[in-house]
Amino acid sequence: MSTTEATETKTEIGFELNEDQLAIKEWIHDFAENTVRPAAHEWDEREETPWEIIQEAANIDLYSLEGLAQIWADPTGLTLPVVQEELFWGDAGIGMAIMGTTLAVAAIMGQGTGDQIGEWVPRCFGTKDDIKVASFCSSEPGSGSDVSAIRTTAKYDEATGDWILNGAKSWATNGGIADVHVVIATVDPSLKARGHAAFVVPKSEIAGISQGAKVKKHGLRASHTSDVNLDDARVPGAYLLGGKEKLDERIARAKEGTKSKGNASMATFEASRPTVGAQALGIARAAYDYALEYAKNREQFGRPIIDNQAIAFKLAEMKMEIDAARLLVWRAAWMGAGIFRGTPPKFANAEGSMAKLKAGQVATWATGEAIQILGGNGYTREYPVERMHRDSRIYEIFEGTSEIQKLVISRAISGIRIR
Ligand SMILES: Cc1cc2nc3c(=O)[nH]c(=O)nc-3n(C[C@H](O)[C@H](O)[C@H](O)COP(=O)(O)OP(=O)(O)OC[C@H]3O[C@@H](n4cnc5c(N)ncnc54)[C@H](O)[C@@H]3O)c2cc1C
Repeated sequence: MSTTEATETKTEIGFELNEDQLAIKEWIHDFAENTVRPAAHEWDEREETPWEIIQEAANIDLYSLEGLAQIWADPTGLTLPVVQEELFWGDAGIGMAIMGTTLAVAAIMGQGTGDQIGEWVPRCFGTKDDIKVASFCSSEPGSGSDVSAIRTTAKYDEATGDWILNGAKSWATNGGIADVHVVIATVDPSLKARGHAAFVVPKSEIAGISQGAKVKKHGLRASHTSDVNLDDARVPGAYLLGGKEKLDERIARAKEGTKSKGNASMATFEASRPTVGAQALGIARAAYDYALEYAKNREQFGRPIIDNQAIAFKLAEMKMEIDAARLLVWRAAWMGAGIFRGTPPKFANAEGSMAKLKAGQVATWATGEAIQILGGNGYTREYPVERMHRDSRIYEIFEGTSEIQKLVISRAISGIRIR
């Protein structure tokens, strides 16, 4: 390799966004500032899905397969976290109402055949004239961090080729209000996670899937979260993601005790985590921006409160931690996008988990500091940092709790199955 080639390879990632990324960033920022933010308080109080805002996102092609495909297909991987950060800077509850569908989309893209992807992914979004949302249903009352404990069963009906699903799902984003539900069920509980299969269950077609209790939440209240029940839900064989042949092969390998391709599924998680981290980053930055302006304007003892190091240093640390988290998010996003550069995603030390862990911690901490800077006003619902603090808290819980991220990182760095 020549010196020039070596230098080019080394400078593949930079800290400046390219022209396309800057244009997309501005586009999303405008939407976040002018459409999402003004609606944030109302929908947080209403605790309902803001269909009007999702419609507006569809109208500008942000909420559509085409719009998101443009954002996903980026060889640097940075466009997606940039978009998430800007949107969630606008508001996290509405951000999740818009982006919650992508959890189901990611499962279909990751596990479906080409035909299934072609059929179901567009149906997750619906059309501009008839928008839909989608839901990913994995968690259950007894299965959160411990995914292997899933008890929803899928039984094969040899006579018809259908699958019969029974069980109860918890905390499903868009659960019951979605048409397309991606449901994780076990076909053989003795095989734990290796006995799992993913099914597309469209509510408009399948009797036996229904919404359970709607969850009343601390934050992200514009995003609908609900239990989902499956009572003898009869699902056609074609709705098993990946198809039966592949599932049978996997089950046979698991029964023989052959090692699974664990690294591939681990890489999938690692690749999706920076995206979630970027959402947390958006909340943290929103709280920092608000607190900085407030501190410059609020006067006590005859001078702005930012004149006090006690306040200014908080802001300095907030800015530093947010930037540090962004660097981890961008690094992991770049690693995860290896597939667009002709190499599989490469993670050495669970960098995706590091990004999500750090961004979640920073968001919870920075929004708390913002409340402190705003004093009594910060604690009221008249000011947005209180909502941001409530919204941030989930980023240490869903998509793998902070403790689970630490477990993943410590296993990756040690090679030991730490518990
Ligand atoms: C707003 C919201 C939206 C959600 N959306 C979805 C969705 O769309 N689809 C879906 O399937 N799920 C969803 N979830 C569920 C979410 O993924 C789970 O809540 C999460 O995985 C944690 O599981 P749990 O709540 O059962 O906590 P538990 O697993 O019971 O954990 C409780 C505590 O124990 C700790 N803990 C558990 N095991 C270990 C261990 N081995 N080592 C150290 N500490 C441990 C955890 O870190 C945590 O602090 C959502 C949840 C919420 C609140």
